[in-house]
Amino acid sequence: MSHQPVIDGLELAASGAALRGTFPLDGFARLRGTLASDAGEVAYVVQGLRDERGRPCLRAKVRGALQLRCQRCLEALELDVDVDKVLVLAASQAEIDAEPAGSRGPDRVLAGRDMPVRDLIEDELILAMPYAPRHERCAAAAPASAGARRFPFTGLRGLVRGKN
Ligand SMILES: [Zn+2]
Repeated sequence: MSHQPVIDGLELAASGAALRGTFPLDGFARLRGTLASDAGEVAYVVQGLRDERGRPCLRAKVRGALQLRCQRCLEALELDVDVDKVLVLAASQAEIDAEPAGSRGPDRVLAGRDMPVRDLIEDELILAMPYAPRHERCAAAAPASAGARRFPFTGLRGLVRGKN
């Protein structure tokens, strides 16, 4: 295994520092199975900051192109990803669980001293994916097999942190 970057979330938020780099798509264990091709990479920036309420946060930016599969014609479909999201750090899982269910607050993530950056970025990529990707102008007139096919993304979402 190659070395993977980790961050101390609270430390990064306090310092306001930023970490940037790229991840190859074939390194995303959860995501890659849903891709038509895992060639290529995404560029990311994780920056520490405090929000207007003084809470420690991470701002995650991810850019790249994902090769998905159109759920109608099953051909490749390129999805441009351009995520820019602020995650509010929580000191404990209990703090996250105490949030009222369904609240429209910001995304929470559990702070740690060695948070794997790749997992953070992979979560954001999974959340950026449509439930059922389809070409805007698809060559197939009708769903390939109506009803029989379960979209792979619905299950994948269960692997992402929190209740969002
Ligand atoms: Zn299609």
